[in-house]
Amino acid sequence: MHELAIAGHVVDIAARHAEGRKVTKVYLKVGHLRQVVPSALTFSFDLVAQGTTIEGATLILEEVPATGRCRECGAESALKTFPFQCEACGASSLEITQGEELYVESLEMEGQEDEKLIAEG
Ligand SMILES: [Zn+2]
Repeated sequence: MHELAIAGHVVDIAARHAEGRKVTKVYLKVGHLRQVVPSALTFSFDLVAQGTTIEGATLILEEVPATGRCRECGAESALKTFPFQCEACGASSLEITQGEELYVESLEMEGQEDEKLIAEG
């Protein structure tokens, strides 16, 4: 269950950036290829956040669809199911251009505007 490990990481990042302030929302970008189960991640997040400054915050997941660029013809294809294939020419050599994201995009804290941040996950 890698969601628990991810949740631990997300809580660490959020807590570090919040510097003791009360966090109300954590916005997370998750690429489709990360194969994260949203309900499992939300559950793990609530669990890991207990007793930290992140406790009670809502985790908001934004899933990023996967896309790839064909090494043969250069066309962009949506990557949905294995094996990945170019939608234009059928080649199976694709460079992934989107879908491997996993990072905390921003935090919302009590009594202030959203704080934008990019932290690698
Ligand atoms: Zn192609």
